[in-house]
Amino acid sequence: MTMILIRGAKQLLTLRGTRSPRRGREMQDLGIVSDGALLIVDGILQEVGPTRRVENLAIARGAREIDATGCVVMPGLVDAHTHLLYPPFHAGATGWGEAQSPGMENVTAKRLEHRGRQFVEAMARHGTTTLEAVTAGLDEAGETKLLRAIAALNGESIDVGASLTARVGELSGRSDWFCGEWMPKVKRRRLARAVDLLWDGDPGTSAVAERVAAEAARLRLRLRVHHEGPGPEPLRLGIRAGAATCDHLEHATDEDIAAVAGSGAVAVLAPAHAFHAHRGQYAPARALVDAGCAVALATDFNPLLSPTLSMTAAIWLACSRTRLAAAEAICAATFNAAGALGCAARIGSLECGKAADVVVLEVADYREIARSLGHNLVSMTIKRGAVIYEQGQVARRSGLRPVA
Ligand SMILES: [Zn+2]
Repeated sequence: MTMILIRGAKQLLTLRGTRSPRRGREMQDLGIVSDGALLIVDGILQEVGPTRRVENLAIARGAREIDATGCVVMPGLVDAHTHLLYPPFHAGATGWGEAQSPGMENVTAKRLEHRGRQFVEAMARHGTTTLEAVTAGLDEAGETKLLRAIAALNGESIDVGASLTARVGELSGRSDWFCGEWMPKVKRRRLARAVDLLWDGDPGTSAVAERVAAEAARLRLRLRVHHEGPGPEPLRLGIRAGAATCDHLEHATDEDIAAVAGSGAVAVLAPAHAFHAHRGQYAPARALVDAGCAVALATDFNPLLSPTLSMTAAIWLACSRTRLAAAEAICAATFNAAGALGCAARIGSLECGKAADVVVLEVADYREIARSLGHNLVSMTIKRGAVIYEQGQVARRSGLRPVA
């Protein structure tokens, strides 16, 4: 039996509460325990509560102790939308389509996996314990290479899931293959748990978009709608089809907001993408929360359009640019992001019986997370009870004079 006792947290953010994604005002309740502690047994949270109670339990005797005095301890961050792996970019690429040249045939599976591992480990150092990687929407050989690399990375340090991209505009003449062969094959091989519908709303391709959505439902793959453009059709189709998430929403109108609020979909927002590639056109996060939507945050990580892999950077942007309160942004980056991936029963909050995915941050108050950009505040990341990252020391040089 492996036991860890994390004790003395200035603020333990439990996010305890309902099992479904939090909406509206519910997002403000972080379930904070002052001077809190966690007892982890074999990777599962056994006890959560005040330090004085948890550390005195007979079962806590002999546990490895982690002193979190003065720190914030919270659930591991969940990045619900990344482009973790992608074809190599050629110099000067300014758009995603161009970025795919020269294509996947020039990158070996080993190289792809190695590059992905570097990103995943950097994410773990920034407190992410679960992430979802959206594929690039290539041909079968290219997508297979991406999906196999994602599967190889899954569980090495953190959980890495995959969403299969359906580029509807490029499927004309190929929808029989995509819906009839490729989607069932991906499902059978368990290479993805969701389908990401990328459609611009063109009426000429609406039948293909409908077919992808229907096939996703038949195969029990979660449906995600990549809603980056101004037209309402992709969002409407997704909601009609029972989409699990609506992603991006930079162009969402009041009607779109009402439609998302009235649905079961989680709005997955990517403020770093808006910051970098949309010239500051952010999704209306404040209005979405006020309308009663369940909002999640993601990095949308990819070096071309959203070059950050830090979920705390996404929290900073959501607060400083889209007026979310720090508590709302933290809920969006943990519990609601887990809900967006269909994993909220296992992760996203610190409650007994859940996986011990935990982050220790070098701040005394959670609101400081929303005031910090580019400073890694994470001192420890724990995945299912195992310490996967611990901050290192900077050596102090003694007896050396600084160079003037
Ligand atoms: Zn994206």
